[in-house]
Formats: sequence, structure tokens, C-alpha cells
Amino acid sequence: MGPTDQIGLVWFRRDLRLDDNPAWAAATSERDFVVALYVIDPRLMAVAGPFRRRQLIANLQAFDYDLFERTGGRLVVRSGDPVDVVPETAARLGCGSAYWNDDVTPFSTWRDQRVRQALDLPVSTFWGSLILPPGSVLTKKGTLSRVFSAFHRTWSTTTWDEWPEPGDAMIYPDPAELIPRLDGPAPLPEGEGEARARLEAFLERVDRYDEDRDLPALDGTSGLSVDLRFGSLSPRTVAEAVGTETKGRKAFVRQLAWRDWYAHLLHESPSMVTEDLNPKAHTLEWRDDPGQLAAWKGGFTGYPLVDAGMRELRSTGFMHNRVRLVAASFLVKDLLIDWRVGERHFRQLLVDGDVPQNVGNWQWVAGTGTDAAPYHRVFNPVTQSRRFDEKGDYIRRWVPELAALDSDSIHEPWEAPAEVLEAAGVRLGHDYPEPVVDHAEARERFLAVVSEARDEAAAGDD
Ligand SMILES: Cc1cc2nc3c(=O)[nH]c(=O)nc-3n(C[C@H](O)[C@H](O)[C@H](O)COP(=O)(O)OP(=O)(O)OC[C@H]3O[C@@H](n4cnc5c(N)ncnc54)[C@H](O)[C@@H]3O)c2cc1C
Repeated sequence: MGPTDQIGLVWFRRDLRLDDNPAWAAATSERDFVVALYVIDPRLMAVAGPFRRRQLIANLQAFDYDLFERTGGRLVVRSGDPVDVVPETAARLGCGSAYWNDDVTPFSTWRDQRVRQALDLPVSTFWGSLILPPGSVLTKKGTLSRVFSAFHRTWSTTTWDEWPEPGDAMIYPDPAELIPRLDGPAPLPEGEGEARARLEAFLERVDRYDEDRDLPALDGTSGLSVDLRFGSLSPRTVAEAVGTETKGRKAFVRQLAWRDWYAHLLHESPSMVTEDLNPKAHTLEWRDDPGQLAAWKGGFTGYPLVDAGMRELRSTGFMHNRVRLVAASFLVKDLLIDWRVGERHFRQLLVDGDVPQNVGNWQWVAGTGTDAAPYHRVFNPVTQSRRFDEKGDYIRRWVPELAALDSDSIHEPWEAPAEVLEAAGVRLGHDYPEPVVDHAEARERFLAVVSEARDEAAAGDD
């Protein structure tokens, strides 16, 4: 069958939803028949850890089910390289046009260009995974702001372009390959309905968001990053449901602006995936220390808050934002290990692991990015722990060997009197490690290395 204008193909990627999905809406309103395709790319499956892989498979199953329930059609699932699979599917089913939602990573840009060439059909693309598309939030000089607060001001007053309304095209009913079986439970209940339920539940808590969001022992944040990562919710749906009426709501929507900002930065500077974004950033002599790296990954640094976070990550694929900041800073500044090593580890394990957000945040923590994050601000893991996990409840959850310590000693057990440790059943160096570095010394070392690199860079400029 030759291609026909009546049949459109929607290539789903990170937008596994039917509501508020501009590519889907455009196709179903412009065509009589629509093929819904998902390509399982073995390259992407190989770099995703088990948590994200399972979440993807569960979300695909839920999406296929929703599609069937709502339209009688099925998700056409195929495995392989999209450069082969998308054109093959389009040709086999006679599609005369294609639709998808764009993505900002260098890999997707490279892949999509090749798919477009191979397809040789009209392609319509949309920015359905962001609130505002790259290039739409600019300074008066027409550039992307390198300072978040300035970006945020403009972002907050930029009007959203309209997304198309969905139509009632018939959906192709043959599912092709079976969706792979789950090899373990998905971290979160899957699908658009569950994502909406999470959003609804968060609306009960959102007014306290500004006060609770930094406390890892509480359920103070939305938990929506995974839904935004897989697209089971559109960020516009989330922002609209929340609004900006209270301090908590404003603070929350500001976080969605960070998400857009990092995507816009990556779209403009694809090399930031592997290179310091700030050209003036010091070229540091990073250390190669497999033993300390393993201690960090495993949650055995001797710093309880860092260890709690790294263990939560390892066992669940989640970590609270405040703890991500402290754990990332510890790797980069206390252990002097390259941010790229940490970024890769997080990206693999996080269920919400997402290139722009992960790279942007790691560079922010390392002080190699764009924003006003002074390189000499080194998080103190003990002060952070006392401030944000005051009673030690989060630490107790993830570092059970310290659970019997009181809420003072739990933040720095090496300072606790011997009798306190003994009463809590903790033998440092046996049940729980001594600190792998002394934070005060590590801080001095980091500042010395930075200042040396800056002197060298300045000498090079002369
Ligand atoms: C080192 C490091 C690595 C990170 N890697 C990722 C990642 O791979 N994927 C990811 O989605 N987030 C990442 N973040 C950002 C943040 O930690 C998570 O988005 C957040 O913890 C998810 O929980 P939540 O949905 O309950 O967040 P909420 O506090 O409820 O925030 C709502 C939404 O806003 C966005 N958001 C919040 N904080 C940030 C931020 N700092 N930067 C960008 N967007 C933000 C997320 O989409 C989030 O779902 C990282 C942060 C750090 C410090």
C-alpha cells in the first residue's frame, strides 16, 4: 500500500499519555486513521538501570491498555533502531505523515534527524514535554539567560502557545510485538491515571511545599518527576492544576521553570552533557580514587546523610532533592571526583534519570554551570544533616545500623562519646565506617585546587 494522507503515524517517546499531548492531538485531528508507535531502542534500554527500565515497561503496558479502552486501538510496539523501524512501520501501514514530540538531548536530536531523512514524509513536531519551548524565553538581547532568576522572571510572564485539540481518528488496532515482561515490580504505580492520582494527592499538600520541600523525612514534594520524565503527565497539566495562588504553589511552579531552563540550556549547548558549561570554569585536576568512589556509591562514606541518600538511591531509584545536592557536592568537593562520574551513576539508577535535569544539576553543584553557584560554597554534610533531618528520621530509615543513636549523635557519630556509641550498639569501623575524609580538610583541599586552577587559567590568559 502506498502512503496516504489519511493515515498519520505518531511516534511516542517520552510522552506516554493521551491527554494534553500536542503530537497526538494534531495527528488525531488532522488524519482519519492514526498509528500509535513506540520503538524499544536497545541502546536506551542498556543505559537505563533496572528501576527506570521496569517503570518504562509498566508505563507502556498501562498506555496500551488506556489506548484500547479509550479508542479501541493498540500501541504498535517494535524493537530496534528507530532509523529502521519508524520508516518501515510507516511504509508497511501506508502512513503519509508523521508526528512526534521533540526532545532536547544530543542523542535524540541526532536520531531524529536521521529518522526524518529516512522517512521522507511530512513530519510535524511539538514541544509537548516542556511548558515553554526552547528559544521562547529570551533576554532583551535575544539570548537565553545564564542566570536562573532572570530566566524565571521572563518564563513566568511568557504566554503559552496553544496546543492542538485532539480529534476522533480511528486508531490502528494491531499491537505488533508483545511488550516485554517485567522482571520485577515497577517503582511507581504506572500509567496516566495513577499519575493523575499522584497529582491530585499532591494538591492536598502543595500549600506547605515551600516549608516542607527540603525535609527528606517528610512526604513534602510532589513525587511527580517520574511522570514528567516518562510523560504520563504533561508539565502544563501540572502547572495549571497547581496555579500560583499561595507561596507553596509559587515555589512549586518555580521548580518546573528549573526543568524548562535546563532543557533550554541543553538544547542551546549540547556539549554540556560532557563538558563544563561555563567556559571560564576551572579545569580541575579530578582525583581517581576507586575505593572512595565505591564507598560513595554504596553508602559507606561515614557521613550519615550522604550514606542514607546513596542507599535510598541504590535500593529504590529515588533520592530526595536536598540529599541529591548534599551527596553530589560530597563527591565533587569532598572527594574531588569528576562530576561526570557522579552524573552517570545517578542517571543510570534514578527512575527519573533525565539528561538535561541531571547534567544541569550536577554542573550547578560542581560550580561548572551557569548560575550564581559560587565555587567556594561547599556544602557541609553535617550542618546540612542537622538542618534538614534534625531528628535523624531519614537517616534512621536508610542507615539502620545507626538507628539507636540519639538525634544529636546520629549526624556525626565519630564525635559521639564511646558510651553513647556502645549503648546504641555502634562500633565505628565495624558496624558503620569512620568518615572517608575529614570534611574541613577536604574543603581546604578543594579550595586550594580550585584556586591553583584559576591562577593557571589567568596566567594562560596573559
Ligand atoms: C545532583 C542532582 C541530580 C538530579 N537529577 C535529576 C534527574 O535526573 N531527573 C529529574 O527529574 N530531576 C533531577 N534532579 C532534580 C530534583 O532532585 C528532582 O526533580 C526532584 O527531587 C524530584 O522529586 P519531586 O518530583 O518530588 O520534586 P518536586 O520538588 O515536587 O518538584 C516538582 C518538579 O519540578 C522539577 N524539579 C524540581 N527540582 C528541580 C531541579 N533542581 N532541577 C530541575 N527540575 C527540578 C521536577 O520535574 C520535579 O518533578 C536532580 C537534582 C540534583 C541535585
